[in-house]
Amino acid sequence: MSPLHFDNAFVRELAGDPFDAPGPREVPGACFSRVMPTPVAAPRLLAHSAEMAAALGFEAEALASDGFAQMFGGNALLPDMQPWAANYGGHQFGVWAGQLGDGRAISLGEVVAAGGERWELQLKGAGPTPYSRGADGRAVLRSSIREFLCSEAMHHLGIPTTRALCLVGTGEAVVRDMLYDGHPRAEPGAIVCRAAPSFIRFGSFELPASRGDTALLRQLADFTIRRDFPHLAGQGESLYGDWFGEICARTAQLVAGWLRVGFVHGVMNTDNMSILGLTLDYGPYGWVDDYDPDWTPNTTDAQRRRYRYGQQPNVAWWNLSRLAAALAPLFGDVAPLQAGLDRYAATYAEADRANIAAKLGLAACRDGDAALMQSLQALLHDAEVDMTLWFRGLADVDPARPQLEPLHDAFYDASKRRVHEAAFVDWLARYAARLADDPLPVAVRRARMDAANPRYVLRNYLAQQSIERAEQGDCSGIHELLDVLRRPYDEQAGREAYAGKRPDWARHRPGCSMLSCSS
Ligand code: AMP
Ligand code: MG
Repeated sequence: MSPLHFDNAFVRELAGDPFDAPGPREVPGACFSRVMPTPVAAPRLLAHSAEMAAALGFEAEALASDGFAQMFGGNALLPDMQPWAANYGGHQFGVWAGQLGDGRAISLGEVVAAGGERWELQLKGAGPTPYSRGADGRAVLRSSIREFLCSEAMHHLGIPTTRALCLVGTGEAVVRDMLYDGHPRAEPGAIVCRAAPSFIRFGSFELPASRGDTALLRQLADFTIRRDFPHLAGQGESLYGDWFGEICARTAQLVAGWLRVGFVHGVMNTDNMSILGLTLDYGPYGWVDDYDPDWTPNTTDAQRRRYRYGQQPNVAWWNLSRLAAALAPLFGDVAPLQAGLDRYAATYAEADRANIAAKLGLAACRDGDAALMQSLQALLHDAEVDMTLWFRGLADVDPARPQLEPLHDAFYDASKRRVHEAAFVDWLARYAARLADDPLPVAVRRARMDAANPRYVLRNYLAQQSIERAEQGDCSGIHELLDVLRRPYDEQAGREAYAGKRPDWARHRPGCSMLSCSS
């Protein structure tokens, strides 16, 4: 017996594709196409999120059953599931790309959980759809593990994200040219079941707008507000304005969260921007090891570095301005759209100040603190210092004796440390002077810092190690990592190895520092 109760509002209330023939095609006038997952040879549950399983009401027995793997491998659906692929467009790397759509994601339905929350369940890698554009609709194990782990890690860090219920191995091979260098190979295939209240993206609105289809644009906007923003009252343009303003504010909070923990999304195309302000589409993402605002893990973006770590707040603004342009036909006057973009800037600035205060353990960010943070960041960059270890370790510095020693482990290169040692000691003295003038008691300060500076993040090399073990048939590395990342802000005795800085072998290794969109 399945515990799931479905309410498939998306396919019930929005215009769908009247055709159901297979094969890639342009789909005008519709928000989705109905499509069935393509069955796989031997679905096997490789990992699951206990929190998501509980949220949906799955008991241990159900999780262990063959029916569960069959269902989330796409082989045996429930009668109330009404699978579809969503239609959307997007700006990719700054260029309008036209229709994209779910080329390898198939939504099964919208579950309404016992507490009333809505979870759209979506299989990523479940076979071709009308939006596959000649690709196979499948996903490889390595990228599926990365999406599975990071979705849950991000949630536990307290940053808005789509979730992952489970990871299913398909028992089939998928051929990929991982670095796009003419060396395709067969890799194990997998499917992640993602979950989110909504997978609607900026690009969902851009596509009908690009086609001059204002009726469909309006239908989708009204639907999104009704289903996903039910707390917004009012009507007409003022409602649309409030809605856009909230999207802007949520996006600002999202990006500020990423910067706080050192996350680089890697492909912030507008089709990967969630209307709910969730982290969406875990592809060639990465985590900053040595602090570098110009770093991107995405080899596809290595030349221009459009989506580098420190550029993400600006890119989000640019993406929101594309969304504003798409929504403009719903407005007689663009002032509310401009106000929304201004709200983005104001919310981001405020969140950035909150990050500075929390990461440095200050009661509030005062004038001068941003400069203090900037001078620190410049030092961290010049001296090649691990971002996560530095900020976590900063709470160990005694303000009465501001020495670099407790932070030595955060340095990748001892000679660079020596070169910059005097500058760091100087900075620590300024920091100590600032702390002396701050009202927070020591214990409160440490708690505040520990809650903002994670001890454990999904370092690229850790994910890669769990992938290499899983490709050999051993999924225990995934389970261990998932368990560590469940409590990223806590000290976890015996698990210090998961907090270690990037080992030398991982510095320039594919999968650890170089990732492409091939997945
Ligand atoms: P992404 O870079 O993952 O956001 O994907 C961009 C577009 O390419 C989306 O429309 C995807 O659905 C599509 N896509 C990516 N990989 C595949 C694949 N293996 N098969 C079909 N479509 C894909
Ligand atoms: Mg995408």
